Amino acid sequence: MDNAAQDSTACPLCALERTPADAAGLAWSSQHELDGSITWICPTCTRAQLWRIESLLTVASPTAPVAPLPMRPAA
Ligand SMILES: [Zn+2]
Repeated sequence: MDNAAQDSTACPLCALERTPADAAGLAWSSQHELDGSITWICPTCTRAQLWRIESLLTVASPTAPVAPLPMRPAA
């Protein structure tokens, strides 16, 4: 069984890889997804998104990370 790639270990916002050293520290913040998985947000993005975290808003989703709004054609 190879479950090494099962966890999402890169920041969904900037794709920074979460290393074992990062895992040992407390700089990364966890976000619990509806499906029970955990998304890890890197320290930089954690600071940038702190207001969202404190507001209990979703910071990012591993499947659809902060999709940009589509351009609406001018009427
Ligand atoms: Zn990040």
